[in-house]
Amino acid sequence: MSGSLQPPFGTREQRIAYNEAWSRTINEKAAEWKLGREPMPDFRCECWKEGCEQRIPLSAEDWKLARAKPNRFAVAPPTTSPTASRR
Ligand SMILES: [Zn+2]
Repeated sequence: MSGSLQPPFGTREQRIAYNEAWSRTINEKAAEWKLGREPMPDFRCECWKEGCEQRIPLSAEDWKLARAKPNRFAVAPPTTSPTASRR
C-alpha cells in the first residue's frame, strides 16, 4: 500500500453523500451515548459542506425526529445577519 487512502468517488454528488453519511454515523454514535445519559446539545451538522464544523443543539428526541426520514438531515441553520428582521 502506498499513498493516501482515497475514497472511491469522483463526483461532487458522491462526495456530498459521503459527507452526509459520515456525519450521520458520528451523530448516531452520539445519539446512542446521549440516549443513555443526560442530553448534551452538540450534534454535528450534516450539511454537504466538506469539513463543516458547525454543531447543532438538538435533544435526543429532536435527533430521532430528524433521522426518522432518510432524506432529512440535521443541518445547522444558515448564518444570518443579527439585524435580519422577521415578519
Ligand atoms: Zn454544516
